[in-house]
Amino acid sequence: MIPEDHPRYRSLKVRERLARCAREGIVAMEGLAAHGRGEAFDYLLGERTTECARHACRTAAALLVTARHPVISVNGNTAALAAREIGELQRASGAGVEVSLFHRTEERIHRITDLLEEHGVEVLTGEAERLIPLSHDRAWCLREGIGAADVVLVPLEDGDRCAALRSMGKQVIAIDLNPLSRTARMATLTIVDEVTRALPHVTDACGTLGAEECARLIQTMDNTYLLRAAIQEMRERLTHALD
Ligand code: ATP
Repeated sequence: MIPEDHPRYRSLKVRERLARCAREGIVAMEGLAAHGRGEAFDYLLGERTTECARHACRTAAALLVTARHPVISVNGNTAALAAREIGELQRASGAGVEVSLFHRTEERIHRITDLLEEHGVEVLTGEAERLIPLSHDRAWCLREGIGAADVVLVPLEDGDRCAALRSMGKQVIAIDLNPLSRTARMATLTIVDEVTRALPHVTDACGTLGAEECARLIQTMDNTYLLRAAIQEMRERLTHALD
């Protein structure tokens, strides 16, 4: 039992949840390591949503609501951390939701699908095909899902897959706490923020942006600028860490 007055209460609760989901076969063991990398960067960011990340969330919403066929790609960590938030974003944006795993087994797909459905997510199903130009399991996706998508939101993706989706001509929105990752640099747009903090901002923006605002956000989108701004935030915090 984690005491509520522990200064790291939230972070410890999240770890507890991920560990439970790992035991249940929803999160891969490797996903726990990926979470640790994210936590380290979140510490540097001050565990808050920066102004730049807010702007990126609004731009992400603009891409999703103006897309022809937007899809949210969900892996084990995202499902464990943010099933409810994914459902809310799906309802606000009209995006499809597809389960897509690095460590892919039919059993994990079913478990993650069940968890998402318990939280009101409508999950795309069908026969996956090897449509993504990658040599391993991550090539699999649904023809009518990620295969047909023009905009794909990939929280917590790895760089290879992000690059492969870009090479298929898709616009890729990443949510990644590490502004140095290949994913962050390969994506069309990266939200440098923690996934459960970022998703509600994207959802809120989906409900409020008008057509003109969407067009302006998309026209002025500049991923390199956003990544530099995130790195600058971290640098500032490091510079003043012991003041
Ligand atoms: P790349 O292949 O893109 O260089 P990587 O090898 O770090 O990145 P993974 O090991 O797949 O990629 O890790 C996933 C990424 O997700 C990490 O960069 C980590 O910072 C990020 N991450 C982990 N947990 C969260 C979270 N809760 N919110 C946002 N980002 C997260």
